[in-house]
Amino acid sequence: MKPSQPARERPNRCDVCGEITPGYDSVNYGSPELGYRLLCNHCLNAEVAREDGLEGFEDPRFEPVRLADCAGKVREFHFRTRLFGPGVALDAFELRDGYPAGYQFQIIGDPSDDLMVLLGRLIEKMRRALSTQHIVDREFGLGITDSGVVRGRIECDLCCDPRLPLLVVDGREIAWDDFGRMLMTYEGWQFKLEIRDQSEEL
Ligand SMILES: [Zn+2]
Repeated sequence: MKPSQPARERPNRCDVCGEITPGYDSVNYGSPELGYRLLCNHCLNAEVAREDGLEGFEDPRFEPVRLADCAGKVREFHFRTRLFGPGVALDAFELRDGYPAGYQFQIIGDPSDDLMVLLGRLIEKMRRALSTQHIVDREFGLGITDSGVVRGRIECDLCCDPRLPLLVVDGREIAWDDFGRMLMTYEGWQFKLEIRDQSEEL
């Protein structure tokens, strides 16, 4: 059985343990034939571990950590562990109004890895990313730093036009039009665009 679409971003009650869980931390799990149950992430991991014979899998609940970004702003990161059989994904994300937003990071490991070590690697990755500034506030709006490099995440612009990307750079949401205006500083220049999975190093 596989997790289906994540449940909507609202609190849900887990069908196994009965705990009220935020929407980002629960999934519908099952199959069209057998039906779906709403599981919290912890119960999902236990179920996947059982199905895949990973009984020794430990699923610790990591406390949030606070890290300063390149501008000195302290940001709080929450963690989520998700076992998917051959691998385990560890996510770190900020919350805004109860929903994941801003900076988000992921690392993939082996289910037999020590998750504390994986967490340490994820936090190193977060520190590296947070130490680099890509955009600056200029007199006439946002601009790209002199490095000429922008790293970020592609999201969907649900507020304005879901067919257009919403970019998250330095933990800030940048509308596609605004990003276009930032690029116009470089009219006539070349650029290189590389797209990577969230778990890869940028
Ligand atoms: Zn549960």
